[in-house]
Amino acid sequence: MEPVRGGKLVFLDSKHNERLKNLRPNATSVEWAFRFLQAIPNVTMTLSGMSDFNQLTENISIHNSFAPLNEDEIAELLDIAKEMTSKNTLPCTACRYCTTNCPMQLNIPSLIELYNDYVYSEGGFLAPMAINALPDDKKPSACINCRACEAVCPQNIKISEMMNDFTNKLHKGDK
Ligand code: SF4
Ligand code: SF4
Repeated sequence: MEPVRGGKLVFLDSKHNERLKNLRPNATSVEWAFRFLQAIPNVTMTLSGMSDFNQLTENISIHNSFAPLNEDEIAELLDIAKEMTSKNTLPCTACRYCTTNCPMQLNIPSLIELYNDYVYSEGGFLAPMAINALPDDKKPSACINCRACEAVCPQNIKISEMMNDFTNKLHKGDK
């Protein structure tokens, strides 16, 4: 599993961060993720991707102690998770059925992932930066709204609407 969702749970919005700090003032969001796993009896090993030495030392430092979340902390964490997942994100499974149908050859699942990140993080900087790095003919704005992708999407995602919404959000800096 991905304890911190490939690093995406490292940066929570300030409101959620504050709620965690109220319970464990010195714990980072990474530590919360690992302490949550420590509270699950059947989890005997945590596999976490690390991309630099600081992450390695941080992970070792956290796992040097056993301090699982208590019931109240788990309830708070699950409540935050519920709020985060109730945002208007899209249930793309990255099956890629849609991509062969796209006349513009857009990387649809990747754009949906960035869209979800944008919505999750209320803007943030990663998704806008990633979109900026794409050539213009691969950005959401290149979608011609033909809806060929939607005809084959098993999740019934309104992909063309997402492309338009993402383009507008990025243009206006919407959250
Ligand atoms: S609606 Fe947009 S994303 Fe979907 S197939 Fe057409 S151009 Fe591609
Ligand atoms: S077909 Fe739907 S679920 Fe599959 S990758 Fe495309 S958008 Fe995602």
